[in-house]
Amino acid sequence: MPRGRYAPSPTGAQHLGNARTALAAWARARSDGSGFVLRVEDLDRPRTVPEAVTGNVAELRWLGLDWDEGPDVGGPFGPYRQSLREDRYADALERLREDGRTFRCWLSRKDLRELSSAPHGAGAVYGPRERAANARAEADKRAQGKEPAIRLRMPEGTERWDDLLAGPRESEVAREVGDIVLLRADGAWAYQLAVVVDDAAMAIDEVVRGDDLLPSTAAQRVLARLLDQRAPRHAHLPLLHGPDGARLAKRRGDLTVGALRDAGVPPERVVGLLAWSLGQIERPEPLQAERFAELFELAAVPRHPVRLDDAALGWLHGGPGPGGPPRAPGDGLDTPGTAR
Ligand code: GLU
Repeated sequence: MPRGRYAPSPTGAQHLGNARTALAAWARARSDGSGFVLRVEDLDRPRTVPEAVTGNVAELRWLGLDWDEGPDVGGPFGPYRQSLREDRYADALERLREDGRTFRCWLSRKDLRELSSAPHGAGAVYGPRERAANARAEADKRAQGKEPAIRLRMPEGTERWDDLLAGPRESEVAREVGDIVLLRADGAWAYQLAVVVDDAAMAIDEVVRGDDLLPSTAAQRVLARLLDQRAPRHAHLPLLHGPDGARLAKRRGDLTVGALRDAGVPPERVVGLLAWSLGQIERPEPLQAERFAELFELAAVPRHPVRLDDAALGWLHGGPGPGGPPRAPGDGLDTPGTAR
């Protein structure tokens, strides 16, 4: 049976954009009878909010989602919290190290930024200058009692894949992404390693997630291959933006699932609004999660980011709602000095 998953980082309450990703991933799996896994990605200790672990689970349940395996229900591929899976990441790192794929990085992000004009995404493009600076830094950092980060030496080559939403993609990973961190200098396992190890270990076939992770995908595919694992198919969703046109962020407390629930908004309204924002229905209407899963089609998802304007948000509280299909963030925003 094919399997999908949703993998929240419990760094706070989930906002409508997180809920939208969760709904799409869940509906995609459920609409064709696939299994669905919930995995809590709580590796980033300083950013993890302990109450958010159970809070996020409760928010998803409130929306009407269910899962076959997860931290609260267990399952054959558990545990389903990354903080309990560190031995797996250590094994994967050891394997990469034995294959000569890793190196110690004594340079901070700031050091690397100052050295290089190359763009930095998930990784750092390590050229001769960076290597020399790294070698120079080692003695000093050791003397200060500092630990190095462990990075993957990204192999040369072009990575090509077909994203189910973003279309055909290619990336020269070593040059565009660079040498990604596997183990951080503070001892935390890096998201990139953990996600690859876990998607394979949990037999995930398809990943639906926000397109903020599109730039990491090529590196994750390469990493999977180096570990002799099959990479899952990916579908990257363009993100949700707020009335001001800015991407929703967890900092913005008003648009969290928990705040809407506490304000008395019924879950069917949240699901209905998100179904509309995902191109599944023409106008927002109250919708049970189960019904949403029945009608969900990936092909109908807008290929542009979507802005929830005041009319859309007002609908959650009983307002008349938006007049038409979901619009892109800049579309319909009055720009000063622009004739309309
Ligand atoms: N835990 C990640 C996040 O919440 C998502 C990881 C993924 O879907 O690959 O942003």
